[in-house]
Amino acid sequence: MLFNVILDVVIIGSGPAGWAAALYTARANLNPLVFEGASPNLPGGQLMITSEVENYPGFPEGILGPELMERFKKQAERFGAQVRTENIGKVDFSTRPFKLFTEAGEMVQARTVIISTGANAKLLGIQKEKELMAQGAGVSACATCDGAFYKNVDVAVVGGGDTAMEEAIFLTRFAASVTIIHRKKDFRASKVMVDRARKTPKIKWELECEVEEILTSPKPPLNRESVIGLKLKNTVTGQLKEIAVEGLFVAIGHQPNTQLFKGILPMDATGYLQTIGKTTKTEIPGVFACGDVQDSVYRQAITAGGTGCMAALDCERFLGSEGE
Ligand code: FAD
Ligand code: NDP
Repeated sequence: MLFNVILDVVIIGSGPAGWAAALYTARANLNPLVFEGASPNLPGGQLMITSEVENYPGFPEGILGPELMERFKKQAERFGAQVRTENIGKVDFSTRPFKLFTEAGEMVQARTVIISTGANAKLLGIQKEKELMAQGAGVSACATCDGAFYKNVDVAVVGGGDTAMEEAIFLTRFAASVTIIHRKKDFRASKVMVDRARKTPKIKWELECEVEEILTSPKPPLNRESVIGLKLKNTVTGQLKEIAVEGLFVAIGHQPNTQLFKGILPMDATGYLQTIGKTTKTEIPGVFACGDVQDSVYRQAITAGGTGCMAALDCERFLGSEGE
């Protein structure tokens, strides 16, 4: 066993949700232990693979994603949150105290568990995609986050679902034009969303096309490799063509990190954890979920942090009511 005591609260995940939950539970003297994750998971979560975050309140000049997460961590540690750089590989919520097992097989016991394992944007898996995204150099998986960086330039959105339609329409507020690239002729998106996109004047279409290659060139003032275009391959004829764009938004879906909880906690059809009403409570009393792992709609750092706070308060009240 990792510790010879039963802990009040264990938090799985160290994105904005996990650290907010850690801060609040630490300040409530619940001595939280945070499993911040380890490869292939990212301690610090999704914001570790982005550059400038301009929409987190309190930072009028913006802040780099990794720096913001370092601050989240420091603040939680200041109030006594303990951290292990490990993945949880298995959980047993069938009896209390709950049992969690690290990937190395060590066990920790806890009265309550806060799940904040987040979600990952699905990527195309083509060359340069991840590096350009991390450098903020023309590839993004979040129009709400990065749209404003693309004022008066041409951009593209990949995907044929509702997210792609919604992101494309949103991007027309900033971009000179938005090209939707989809590998089929038919859309998974609802008809109403496709119609809305079709009626949006700045939107152009490249259907039955896949992105074969991201074209880059050094861009002033930093002379950093940045997106200048895309090489597209027709999925029917195999024909190649190039389009000039300065931004590529990948909108092909998200994958919540819930493998660990399959058959243990209720999930929706796409695998997001389900919470009860306006709370962070799951079906199992004493197990709470917050952040992107239970939110397929908002998916922002501030909403993740907000639900992290809610989970901590729900957890504190749960433990308080048990002591009565
Ligand atoms: P995540 O940040 O996904 O963190 C999940 C955590 O769980 C990680 O620490 C991981 O290591 C851990 N984990 C997973 N599995 C395990 C396990 N088995 N054991 C232990 N730990 C585990 N939002 C904004 O508001 N503004 C932005 O500008 C912005 N830019 C973005 C840019 C990019 C490229 C991306 C991908 C997202 C961006 N977002 C932005 C969205 C934002 O990052 C997410 O909404 C937010 O990070 C979700 O926080 P979270 O705590 O729920 O989960
Ligand atoms: P979806 O899974 O619905 O759509 C993903 C799209 O990406 C599909 O068109 C798919 O193509 C395409 N795709 C997947 N992988 C690749 C790949 N490797 N290369 C190229 N294209 C790829 O995800 P969404 O995020 O769009 O939507 C998720 C859920 O959220 C849905 O239920 C949706 O209705 C909902 N939603 C609702 C909104 C609204 O109502 N306003 C807004 C946003 C989301 P293919 O079709 O060929 O498989």
